[in-house]
Parts: sequence; C-alpha cells; structure tokens
Amino acid sequence: MPTPVRVRFAPSPTGPLHIGGVRTALYNYLFAKQHNGTFIVRIEDTDQTRYVPGAEDYIHEALAWAGLTVDEGVHAGGNYGPYRQSERKDLYLKYAEELVAKGKAYYAFDTPEELEQWRKQRKEAGDHTPQYGMHTRMALKNSLTLSKEEVKARLAAGEPYVIRAQFEPGHTYAFHDSIREEVRFASEELDDKVLFKADGMPTYHLANVVDDHLMAISHVIRGEEWLSSTPLHVFLYEAFGWEPPTFAHLPLILKPEGKGKLSKRDGDRMGFPVFPLEWKDPQTGEVAMGYREEGYIPEAFINMLAFLGWNPGTEQELFSLSGLIEAFSLERVGKGGARFDPDKAKWFNEQYLRTTADDVLAGQLAQQIDTNLSTSQLSTICGLMKERVSFVQDIATSGKYFFEAPTAYDAKMVKKKWKEHSPTIVKELRERFAATDFTAEALEATFKAYIEEKEIGFGAGMLPLRLVITGVGGGPSLFAIMEVIGKEEALRRIDIGVDAITQL
Ligand code: GLU
Repeated sequence: MPTPVRVRFAPSPTGPLHIGGVRTALYNYLFAKQHNGTFIVRIEDTDQTRYVPGAEDYIHEALAWAGLTVDEGVHAGGNYGPYRQSERKDLYLKYAEELVAKGKAYYAFDTPEELEQWRKQRKEAGDHTPQYGMHTRMALKNSLTLSKEEVKARLAAGEPYVIRAQFEPGHTYAFHDSIREEVRFASEELDDKVLFKADGMPTYHLANVVDDHLMAISHVIRGEEWLSSTPLHVFLYEAFGWEPPTFAHLPLILKPEGKGKLSKRDGDRMGFPVFPLEWKDPQTGEVAMGYREEGYIPEAFINMLAFLGWNPGTEQELFSLSGLIEAFSLERVGKGGARFDPDKAKWFNEQYLRTTADDVLAGQLAQQIDTNLSTSQLSTICGLMKERVSFVQDIATSGKYFFEAPTAYDAKMVKKKWKEHSPTIVKELRERFAATDFTAEALEATFKAYIEEKEIGFGAGMLPLRLVITGVGGGPSLFAIMEVIGKEEALRRIDIGVDAITQL
C-alpha cells in the first residue's frame, strides 16, 4: 500500500499571514485533497522572542475565511497532537541528546557575549562571515573541545548551553525536490546550526524535523526561503535514521514590477492588500488592509492565489476549489518567482461577482449599507450593477442614484448634452411617464413613442433624462433604474433636476 499523503502547513505566529503563506497552505490543501490525504496545520511557536499576540488566531481565521478546511490541527484535533509546538516542548530535548550520543551534535557553552567577541575578532582578521562550524568549532567552548568531566560538571551545574548540529567535511546532502528536481549541498557550505536553545526550546530546524517525523508527514511543501535549510533537515533525518519526506519548495511571490519579494510596503504604495484579513498591529496600532475587508470573494481570492506559481497548462483561468483540487499538480508549479498583479486580482473578483446570484449579493450589500429598500429591490440593483463593478460594496457608490437623489449633476455632461430644448423634452416626457405603468418595459415604450412622434434622436431624449434622474451620464438601463426608484421619486427627481440644471 502506498504511504498515505499527509501534508502540513506550519506557520509561525509572528504576525499576520502574508498571502504567500496562504498560497503555501492552499497548495498543501490541494495536494492533500487530490490524494485523499490529510491537511494538517501545525503552529510553530518555539521562538518566544518573536511571539505576537493575536497572530495565531489570525492564521486560523484566515484559513477558515479562505475555505481551507483543516483536517488535523489545534482546533480540528487529531491523533498526532498537540499541534502547537510550545505544547510539545518537553519532547524535543531527548531527540537533541540522541544526536549528541550519536556524534551528530554537541553541546556548546559559549555565551552570547563570547560569541560576539569571537565574531568581531574573526572579522578583524578578514573573515567577513564567521561561521560556527567544522573549520572553527575546535577553537570554541563546546563538548568537542572541553573534557568529558568538564562538560558533565557544567551540565550538572545547570550552566546555559545550546546543542549544535555537527557537520563533517566531505559529505554531500542531496535531495529530490518535486519542483526543483535534484538539489545538492556540500557539507563544507553548512554551519553547525543551533538545534536546541539555552531557553530550553528547540529551534525551528529540530522541532520541524522531529514533528514532521512524529506526525508522519509524507510531503513537505513550503516556501523557497526554506530551501537552504533543507540540507540540515536531510542531515537530521539521516542522523536519526528516519525516512525523509518528499520536498517541494514553492517559488517566491514577486512585486508587481517583477523584481524582489512582494512586501507589505508594495501594497501600501500601490493600494492593494498583501494579507488575507485586516490586521491591527498590537504594538503600533497600525492597520494593514485585508482581502476580506476590501470585499474580495473568498473563492476569487483562492483562484487568484492558485495562479501565483501554478498554471493548468490550458487557457482556463476560472477554477472552483474542487476544480483546483482536480487540476493541481506540483509538476506544474514553476521554479521562477510569480509576479503579483493587483489588476488581475481584481479581475478574478469581477468574474466571481458576475456569477454570484443577485439575492446573495443583495444580502451582502444589505449588511454594508443603511437602506430602506426591500431585499427584492436590492437584488434587482445588484443584478443591474454587478457587471459594472469590481466589488459588491462598489454597487452602493457607483449606483448611488438607486439609493438617493442626485445632489450634483456631472458638469461635463451638462455642458455637452443639456441643450436648449432639453427642459421641454424632459418636462414632456415627465407628463407621459406620469400616466405610464412604472415597469422598465412600459417606460421604454412610452419613451420610444415620444421620440418617434417628436422626431428627435434617442440621445437627445435619453441623456438629459438620465442626468436629471441619476446626476451622471452612464449606468445600466435608465428605465430599469426608474422602475426601482418608483414613480413618485422619479417624477420628483425630474422636477428638481430640470430646475437645478437650468439654473447652473
Ligand atoms: N515555521 C516555518 C514558517 O513559518 C515553517 C517552514 C516549513 O514549512 O518547514 O514558515
């Protein structure tokens, strides 16, 4: 039987989740679902210095909003818990000690001050990037240089120590990456990374590998920034005698200009969100915009994210989550960075908006605005406007005339389209509308009969009429607008509008 697919999204709660993180979660989710596997979320919170209150809740909320249902995790539970590393902290030391016993790691007693001093000296001596590793460790204070007795005594006295990986020269750490194929690192390039810290917590590297093993993770799908840590992880799997998972390192999401990693600053500069949900920094109080609050439909957001690094190899761009589950493959994820395009993000939302039922949009709109209009009126408005806007809330601004009489009239339009005869035409039309059933069809028929009878052009009647009723020159069918606002209001607007524009 093939090994069951078990993948994990392993964020550190150090701030709001970047959309790159949501994309990592999405690819893990798609891969899991496609293989009838399990999507696990593990919170990697062993770095106490980087803990940010609210960040973990934010992660759970963002995944839920995006529709990525978690199979195992802090809230979903599961047989491999706990799923928060801080709650697993007692189990890591024994693994670090096992590595020491196997000669794959060692205790180091250098204090931070001593290391700083050492680095400074190395730099002065011409070594610009001093590394604690195979070339330097014999000059430092660790269990490879101190006597056994002294090491024992220091440990017994409770002296602070760290445990470091012990790389030896002449080894190559190679692994197959599903996206990058063969990746190789020579041990000489690697430094003796800290695995276990003086505060009694494992580092990311140790906890990540131990947990991936204990949680029976089959595939590690994560961001490119972790590629250079993978040789250390492969070393750890070998040292423990464990089978490593399959690795897949996802490309970076790049700035709209195409160079450099997409950052919050790009979003601020160009006015688009880089976070799924709004985030208020607990320290500075600064608020960063979120896709949810900007009015993005979660399915559109997910569709857009899926295409940041992957493509189906066909022209098709619109995919539901289940369509993505079917179409996704790691082989079709690119190696090169994926350029983020804020206009394309909007485009995806527009496509989803157009296919959302009018009454669903009406329900959403009703939550965002204060109005006396009925649900069925709102639903008609949404139907008339959804082709013309990017977000549901834009309906209330672009289609302001549905909700209130104009308070101003587009000056350019007035200048161009309000002619000498316009007041007469609009007033005569008013009289005929007063005797018409207020349905779009009947109003249109009345209008057409009038312009034919008077032998005037369509625009000569329509544009002045549109101006007095809506204040602007464009929009959906004016007769449909009139039907929604009703006879009394439409006639009132005509009366006020003709006077107001004539006096301009
Ligand atoms: N905790 C790491 C992060 O914040 C996880 C990297 C991994 O998936 O191994 O991205």
